[in-house]
Amino acid sequence: MSDSDRQFDRQHIWHPYTALRDPLPTYPVTRAEGVRLYLENGRELIDGMSSWWAAIHGYNHPALNAAATEQLSKMSHVMFGGITHEPAIRLCQQLVAMTPAPLEKVFLADSGSISVEVALKMAVQYWQGRGRPEKCRYLTPRRGYHGDTFGAMSVTDPDSGMHWMFKGLLPGHLFMPMPEAGFDESAEQDLVQAERYFAEHHQQLAAVILEPVVQGAGGMRIYSPGYVKGIRALCDRYEVLLILDEIATGFGRTGKLFAMEWADICPDILCLGKALTGGYLTLAATLTTQEVADGISDSPAGCFMHGPTFMGNPLACAVACQSLALLSENRWQQQVLMIESQLKAQLLPLKNHEAVADVRVLGAIGVVEVKTAVDMAKLQAQFVALGVWIRPFGRLIYVMPPYVISPSELSKLTCAIKAVL
Ligand SMILES: *Cc1c(COP(=O)(O)O)cnc(C)c1O
Repeated sequence: MSDSDRQFDRQHIWHPYTALRDPLPTYPVTRAEGVRLYLENGRELIDGMSSWWAAIHGYNHPALNAAATEQLSKMSHVMFGGITHEPAIRLCQQLVAMTPAPLEKVFLADSGSISVEVALKMAVQYWQGRGRPEKCRYLTPRRGYHGDTFGAMSVTDPDSGMHWMFKGLLPGHLFMPMPEAGFDESAEQDLVQAERYFAEHHQQLAAVILEPVVQGAGGMRIYSPGYVKGIRALCDRYEVLLILDEIATGFGRTGKLFAMEWADICPDILCLGKALTGGYLTLAATLTTQEVADGISDSPAGCFMHGPTFMGNPLACAVACQSLALLSENRWQQQVLMIESQLKAQLLPLKNHEAVADVRVLGAIGVVEVKTAVDMAKLQAQFVALGVWIRPFGRLIYVMPPYVISPSELSKLTCAIKAVL
């Protein structure tokens, strides 16, 4: 890459959550294969991020490449309004088959945030159809993250999220305390607190939205499945829909195919994204029940009011079908289990390190929370020098590697974390 290209990148292109004045450094990547990213300067990095939860099968995967190429030779896109196609049908068949039986209706969205917008709109239109239009607010635990669009932002933690910037533009939804109970603990206390919100506000509540068992970008917190189960029960008792955001946790990441399985429950609406195409293309899905779909049909609009230009993109659907086919070979279970035990063995001892506040591991997710916020640019450079790609934020250094990572490659990630500490 020429110096002028580098300059252009710095001066004209926003990267996620960066300023264009004095932006954080970026690393030119020319190629990726398996669990490796290849930098332009010849250096290779072991990937600890799966490109934000997405590249679960590794990069440049022959089967995913083949699916993309084959679909490309037929059509990469065609509008979904008034048209249907096999890649979308096959994908939705697989999604319906692999999720709990009540989830049988699928809306294909173009990103995770949009699938959340869709879920939120579904809940409101459902209550309109049931003659209860006053049920139009959402309840959600603090420290959640559901995306960057306005609806998603409005249910993302008001303090760690972006609320203060858009004060006055974001509708005031309800935030209850975050679940404190750890993975193996009873959530009884948390649920007592939560019930107060249901009791007081249920008449205006359309839905509760939460990330089951693992809160991702809001703090990488792992909490009690009992909380998720208890919230399901409260939703039933107080007539409130439950939306589960499994955009990060879905497709095996937590050790179950979906994190809701830890709680043995089914939501009314489910959001999926990130790993859906194995990290190849942007695609997400919102699944719901016959009951919710009926309510929406009965609403004054008479139909569901959403339809993005690139809805059901055939290329993305074809790759997603192949990614799900790879998952259905079921190697992920063994792979995630092995990653989990190795992360536990190599990261949990860091709890005793003086700079470390907490270490958390679940499935193929390892989190080291340090006591003071990290200098992202500095740490990033140190990780690159150590031959790994780990991108910390705030007080969190975390890894969620592709499932195909080998034990020695994973050790390289954990050793690098030890080294930077
Ligand atoms: C990433 C994420 C989203 C947003 O998905 P995008 O594809 O980035 O819009 C929503 N919810 C959760 C839990 C996520 O991790």
